Amino acid sequence: MAPPPRGSRPRHVPQRTCVACRQTSAKRQLVRIVRGPDGTVIIDPTGKRSGRGAYLCESPECWQAGLTRGVLPRALKIETIPEDDLQNLSAFAQRLGLQP
Ligand SMILES: [Zn+2]
Repeated sequence: MAPPPRGSRPRHVPQRTCVACRQTSAKRQLVRIVRGPDGTVIIDPTGKRSGRGAYLCESPECWQAGLTRGVLPRALKIETIPEDDLQNLSAFAQRLGLQP
């Protein structure tokens, strides 16, 4: 069996679904949000934290749906996002262009 050509990369790109718009994108184009074991909800830019994760597009509309329409708590299987964490998430969403 011939070895694979040098420089080739596996074709498989991990796909994830945005919990707001349900569109599938490459994992790197989505923002991962993780509910930690202590109940905190944080943005996980590395994608490596353990805990229940949910993904949102880098789109203000999706963040608005995630933060204000209960999409994100549902995806993370919690009642509500803790106030402090919600503020962090809102600040992130505003950097994406979401109007406060
Ligand atoms: Zn989306």
